[in-house]
Amino acid sequence: MARYREAVCRLCRREGQKLFLKGQRCLADKCAIEKRNFPPGEHGKARRPKPIGYGVQLREKQKVRRLYQILEDQFRNYFEKAASRKGVTGETLLMMLEQRLDNVVYRLGLASSRAEARQLVRHGHIDVSGRKVSIPSFQVVPGQTIAVRERSRNLQSIQKALDLAGNRGVPPWLAFDRENLKAQVVSVPKREDVSFPIQEQMIVELYSK
Ligand code: SF4
Repeated sequence: MARYREAVCRLCRREGQKLFLKGQRCLADKCAIEKRNFPPGEHGKARRPKPIGYGVQLREKQKVRRLYQILEDQFRNYFEKAASRKGVTGETLLMMLEQRLDNVVYRLGLASSRAEARQLVRHGHIDVSGRKVSIPSFQVVPGQTIAVRERSRNLQSIQKALDLAGNRGVPPWLAFDRENLKAQVVSVPKREDVSFPIQEQMIVELYSK
């Protein structure tokens, strides 16, 4: 499957904020946003007019897409599915992204970034309700259990990620048993469970043109 292969710190610099794409490095002084918080490229430091209208909507969409590491076509598919469901489209879109299995693995602290979480899923280290699931986009639903497979429990990357995630906290829609590396999906996520600053209405406006 296609994925973004460029230097990911450029993505944060383009959006002007930390998207936490690199795990431990994002919390260190080495973070590119701490050192060079201006857009990448030759004219990155040049003063630019603040985006308005379409520009704001586009940046918001790119930010969310990059945060969850989703390619354009797949992101649009999410939007179309969200738009066809009952409820507020922007919120439904965010909740669908939150319910992706790779995001859940990241939210539980089993991986230090969504990219690492995606790799854990792809490599077959995660069970959903007792069965191996290796599809990062798999949508979890209330009642399911998410667990690290027995043979993968001692993976160093998981232990390191758990230590790093110490203060990050697990959202209330997931109940995590850290000792057994197992979680239950207790409800669907709510909008307030996504604390990252996102104006989802901008994305709806962009795709509704
Ligand atoms: Fe973004 Fe992390 Fe790179 Fe900082 S270190 S710019 S937060 S990916």
